[in-house]
Amino acid sequence: MTIAAPEIRLHSNVEAFLASPKQNLIDGRWIDAASSKTFAVHDPATGDVIAHAAAGDAPDIAAAVAAARKAFDEGPWRRMTPSERGKIVWKIADLLEDHLEEFAQLESIDNGKPAAVARVADVPLAVDIFRYMAGWATKIEGATIPITVPYLPGARFHAYTLREPIGVVGQIIPWNFPLLMAAWKLAPALAAGCTVVLKPAEQTPLSALRLGEIMQEAGLPNGVVNVVTGFGETAGAALAAAPGVDKVAFTGSTEVGRIIVKAASHDLRKVSLELGGKSPNVIFKDADLDVAIPGAANAIFFNHGQCCCAGSRLYVEKDIFDDVISGVAEEAKKIKLGHGMADDSGMGPLVSEEQLNRVCGYIEEGKASGAKAVVGGARKGDRGYFVEPTIFTNIKQDMKIVQEEIFGPVVTAAPFDSLDEITPVANDSVYGLAAGVWTRDVARAHRFAAELRAGTVWVNCYNVFDAAMPFGGYKQSGWGREMGHEVLELYTETKSVCVNIS
Ligand code: ADP
Repeated sequence: MTIAAPEIRLHSNVEAFLASPKQNLIDGRWIDAASSKTFAVHDPATGDVIAHAAAGDAPDIAAAVAAARKAFDEGPWRRMTPSERGKIVWKIADLLEDHLEEFAQLESIDNGKPAAVARVADVPLAVDIFRYMAGWATKIEGATIPITVPYLPGARFHAYTLREPIGVVGQIIPWNFPLLMAAWKLAPALAAGCTVVLKPAEQTPLSALRLGEIMQEAGLPNGVVNVVTGFGETAGAALAAAPGVDKVAFTGSTEVGRIIVKAASHDLRKVSLELGGKSPNVIFKDADLDVAIPGAANAIFFNHGQCCCAGSRLYVEKDIFDDVISGVAEEAKKIKLGHGMADDSGMGPLVSEEQLNRVCGYIEEGKASGAKAVVGGARKGDRGYFVEPTIFTNIKQDMKIVQEEIFGPVVTAAPFDSLDEITPVANDSVYGLAAGVWTRDVARAHRFAAELRAGTVWVNCYNVFDAAMPFGGYKQSGWGREMGHEVLELYTETKSVCVNIS
């Protein structure tokens, strides 16, 4: 059975945007790749080509970095008052909000996610982080420090710290939340006074390009944000290694994270990483199952499981295991697979054929190793990259499907007996991005939260994000925290100033 593509009616601005050439934004100008090459952008629900984007490579990255360098070293951006900077960042939020529908549609046709989800999640969260970070522009402060120098008796000093922008930042982002990941990276960098070269994922370049237009309209000086589209091995690799970049901020797979670190190690530029996950989601028998069951389904099936923090390992206390699994299976069956632009779609396609093959490969691997798919377990249709929401039981902790990040709508489920038993199992992963806990016992919730080696622990909820709440990983899930005031650590340097006032 093939999933029917709806008659898609796009916003007129989206139509106009799709029809316009997709060039790189360098120094405030839209230009073709130096090679004049382009690559095709697909609607993953149909496989149809919807646009062609500039295939940026090393020369384009070099030009963009030079523009960002000039804008940082000589331009007004880091010298203007924090209040003026904050106003521009706020204006980006306003313009983004004005164009919410357009961005929701762009995300849907480019990434595959339901536009209905992008309307209430991706775009509003992106708006919010620009607003939140606009407020921080005026609050990035140093401190005065009383000092006593033992070998200079009697001398007096006035010592203080300055928090300064780190400089030119290369930002490489993934395809699962194309606009939101751009916003998480751009907003704090801009608030701090950095300049940026942004490389969106080759699967989903569209919303970053439209955001580039909006940022120029908001009054960003030329060269402050440059956007270069292209492939990871070419444009991405060039950006990670480009001389003139002070810091690389990356979100993507742990595998590519390692490559980025190697590329940046040559001249020891700073790196922050938001990488993979294999997050445990643990339901105790005293949990409110009316909340926990749909919560566990949302933890894995939101964004088709293409979330680094997806609750992909479900552990359920033995007495309630069967009830919970049949409940989550019912939730899975209710999800209607369809084109993201169809109003009744609960889940769209995976982002690409490559991702489809990867996820289906894991499903086959799981079956072959003895796991049982109680629901799903197959591709749906033969057009577009749809995969059925899948729950595996009969698993062993050392199976590949339990240990490796699948990045699709596939959850493994196992029963457990006690808090003491489940704690090491929940932590048995090379990743440590997130975890979920469902219980009515407040003491147990906090005790367990403290034991979990994860950057975010959700209690009686999952996938709750706020611009003010830091997000990032323990272990191989990354370096550093995005969002909250902690993200400013990623985009500022601290300078100690010591003045002899003897
Ligand atoms: P996925 O495997 O899920 O597609 P990746 O980690 O490959 O995720 O991609 C995340 C981002 O990293 C994308 O923008 C991609 O183009 C980029 N990328 C991929 N390979 C490299 C590389 N070798 N160097 C720099 N960036 C890369």
